[in-house]
Amino acid sequence: MYGSRPSESGKAVLQMFSLPATYLLGIVAAGWAKAWGAKVRFERSVGMVVCYGAFVPGAARGGTTFGRTFISHQKDQNGNYVDPGEYLEPARYQDLMEHEFAHTRQYDLLGPVVLGIGYGVNELIANAFGAPPGCANVFERAAGLEKGGYTYCGEGNLRSLLRRKSADVN
Ligand SMILES: [Zn+2]
Repeated sequence: MYGSRPSESGKAVLQMFSLPATYLLGIVAAGWAKAWGAKVRFERSVGMVVCYGAFVPGAARGGTTFGRTFISHQKDQNGNYVDPGEYLEPARYQDLMEHEFAHTRQYDLLGPVVLGIGYGVNELIANAFGAPPGCANVFERAAGLEKGGYTYCGEGNLRSLLRRKSADVN
């Protein structure tokens, strides 16, 4: 849904529109992350809050977006929690933020409750079919698997991911 690179003005228009629930959830998430020792900064390029530098319970895998807040679990080679904006290559970081911003749009479209439940159910079903975490999740696929850092999904072809499991069964 956010696959093609939008124009700068298009991006600005998109960023202006955000549901109150999306903002509210982001504020709560940032407060939660701060309580766990994360640092908090604003990422201008996508209009999101980025929390980093600590493990924050509730955030999954390499990081999770809640409304307009991205809680990052980015680590360096030594396993220390670091700022993805400083640690990642600039292009890689921008891809990641575009991926997380796509999740913010999903919050706006569906609201936190429907998105939360939809995401969870999606992940459960995908897991039951043996797909690697995130790879068969429609919300991750819509946000872009590669940009999101899901490098282990292979081609990301849904049919082949789900076929993997039936091959195991047979
Ligand atoms: Zn994602």
